[in-house]
Amino acid sequence: MLKTNWHTHTKRCGHAVGTDEEYVIAAIQAGVRTLGFSDHAAYHTPRPRSRMNIELADDYFSSISFLKEKYADQITLYLGMECEYYESEWETLSRYRKELDYIILGQHDLWLDGPDVYHPFSSEQVFEYVDLIEKACSRNFCDYVAHPDVFMWGYPGVDDTVRTAAARLADISVKYDMPMELNCGSGVKYGAREYTDGMRYAYPVRIFFEEFAKKHCPVIVGLDIHDPKLFQTDEYVNRALSVCEGLDINFLWDYDLVTAAKKRKQLFR
Ligand SMILES: [Zn+2]
Ligand SMILES: [Zn+2]
Repeated sequence: MLKTNWHTHTKRCGHAVGTDEEYVIAAIQAGVRTLGFSDHAAYHTPRPRSRMNIELADDYFSSISFLKEKYADQITLYLGMECEYYESEWETLSRYRKELDYIILGQHDLWLDGPDVYHPFSSEQVFEYVDLIEKACSRNFCDYVAHPDVFMWGYPGVDDTVRTAAARLADISVKYDMPMELNCGSGVKYGAREYTDGMRYAYPVRIFFEEFAKKHCPVIVGLDIHDPKLFQTDEYVNRALSVCEGLDINFLWDYDLVTAAKKRKQLFR
């Protein structure tokens, strides 16, 4: 099991199970030393099965802060969020950016409750998705990009649009020294399926990691965990790693994301 994981959910998002404390205990038992909570950000419109309700945000902050003290001698806990880049929600997002230890960018749709990655994007929408990631990075809003290839869930298969998007994401990573995630969540959990380029996991997708390897982009492995029991298995980590077999990836094992986040936060506007 990984010693460090920055991508951890709680049941507040509506599609995760277990108490916050169960995640902490399971992580300790699995040998995790640094655990970052990054539940799906709360925005002003409720979306019960996708993200935290905004009324629960304070409870999330206080619960993780309490556990941080309680288990301080066994594990280092940090408080973050997985946010989208939405200009319409900038006030809320700015508050999260300033108050939390770190932010991971998980761009699941193009605007709040807009077209999402689980339905096929057009080429224009793929590039809009990449543009949003670039804006978030350029404003120092986030500290790593979660599942940069997540739109491949709904997209028919690897084509020229995808190849261009992968190359652009690698360029963004280099330009802003922004870690990209190798995600071990739903994309691998549900197994390989048929796409126009053949049988593969929805994400991670190899073409992105070929670009990341070629340009020596920093890559962080993220469990994207929604169930404390999953700390007991390496199955999904191994599946994700199998996607980049043979590639010379610049993995940041045990990276101190919070120190990097402190620097980015000073530049955040
Ligand atoms: Zn989730
Ligand atoms: Zn996530």
